[in-house]
Amino acid sequence: MAKSIQSIRGMHDVLPDDSYRWQSFETVIRQLMAAYGYREIRMPLVESTDLFCRSIGEVTDIVEKEMYTFEDRNGDKLTLRPEGTASCVRAGIQHGLLHNQVQRLWYSGPMFRHERPQKGRYRQFHQFGTEVYGIDTPDIDAELILISARLWQQLGLKGVRLELNTLGSNEARAEYKQVLVNYLNDHREQLDEDSLRRLETNPLRVLDSKNPAMKEMLDKAPALVDHLDDESKQQFDKLKASLDAVGISYIINPRLVRGLDYYCKTVFEWVTDDLGAQGTICAGGRYDGLVEQLGGKATPAVGFALGMERILALLESQQQQPAQTVDIYMVLIGAETEVKGLQIAENIRNAVPGVKMITHCGGGSVKSQMKKADKSGAGIALIIAEDELENEQVTVKYLRQNKEQVTVSADELDAFIRNFVKG
Ligand code: ATP
Ligand code: MG
Repeated sequence: MAKSIQSIRGMHDVLPDDSYRWQSFETVIRQLMAAYGYREIRMPLVESTDLFCRSIGEVTDIVEKEMYTFEDRNGDKLTLRPEGTASCVRAGIQHGLLHNQVQRLWYSGPMFRHERPQKGRYRQFHQFGTEVYGIDTPDIDAELILISARLWQQLGLKGVRLELNTLGSNEARAEYKQVLVNYLNDHREQLDEDSLRRLETNPLRVLDSKNPAMKEMLDKAPALVDHLDDESKQQFDKLKASLDAVGISYIINPRLVRGLDYYCKTVFEWVTDDLGAQGTICAGGRYDGLVEQLGGKATPAVGFALGMERILALLESQQQQPAQTVDIYMVLIGAETEVKGLQIAENIRNAVPGVKMITHCGGGSVKSQMKKADKSGAGIALIIAEDELENEQVTVKYLRQNKEQVTVSADELDAFIRNFVKG
């Protein structure tokens, strides 16, 4: 036998037992976005490599070591998108959606990063994200946080906390950077290799280090909050007041700087302790400079992205997951019933829109068909054998309720099914 081909490491199939959970999640997202007046945007999976280098930043984990970059047959340098914000800004500029307009957008789909695969960290993973353009006040930051909080509530997700920080204006950050560099230089012997390099190229990112050996030293580092400009401070206070007013609790985390270069002012993450090291399920913030940096007119912008695999894993650990089931399994006994069975099934689908029904195909004994009916999760089996055909009726067997089987005549069948589906 030939050796079978496997999927690429870190890239997973969603199998039929799981796809239903994805669909339910996606339905909640769609309805939530509609409820807040956000509209979907769909971007290509592949972009010019340049787009990500110019937006995410050269000295970030993503651009330094995680991108799937290749040359196509024309010799163009392309990259599988590692995140959605850069593409969204690119599309917004290209199609004139951003200048002097308010846009509330969302997207979802696969992202690609060449990371070390482990629980909650994959090479193809899925994000749902929102991006809002054209609003520079913190009321919209609060709206985005409210949307994410409502999403957890609608999914029934528990045990997630909101961490909040502000990165200040670009000027305030530059001033703070100098203070931080001085502190880090005084503690050089404790910095790992990555951090020593970042100290030269992008010192703020040292705060983002996940190395536990550096935690204590970084906890004692001077905090950005103490170096903020007045406007950022006021905006941050307003955001906190809005969250207090709507009863959303948060923790200020002065070390929260986010791993991408384009953030300023508000940044936030939703975090759980239930997923091991991969505890951030959702992350976002303001990125007022990015549109201009990518060639558009200066436009305020804010958004978040969440990791769908991490949220589904958290849901799975917290609750019974619904399985995809059908209402009806149609059992067809004897060759004569096969064609007639398809006709009856089509008539039922015409008469009762939304009914979920499997029509048995492939013959077999009553016993084997009833086994399949049971396994399908259907509430009833509709049994048609030659007897039933002759008498123009079907036998209904209840699979989940303690009820006697009944016969239903052909002309009453639609009404019967309609009632059954209604519950
Ligand atoms: P991390 O610190 O965990 O690497 P990140 O800061 O790189 O996350 P973002 O770029 O902010 O992540 O992406 C937003 C969200 O997407 C993350 O909070 C996480 O839930 C999810 N995510 C990021 N990378 C992966 C991955 N490789 N596999 C699965 N989910 C991911
Ligand atoms: Mg990462």
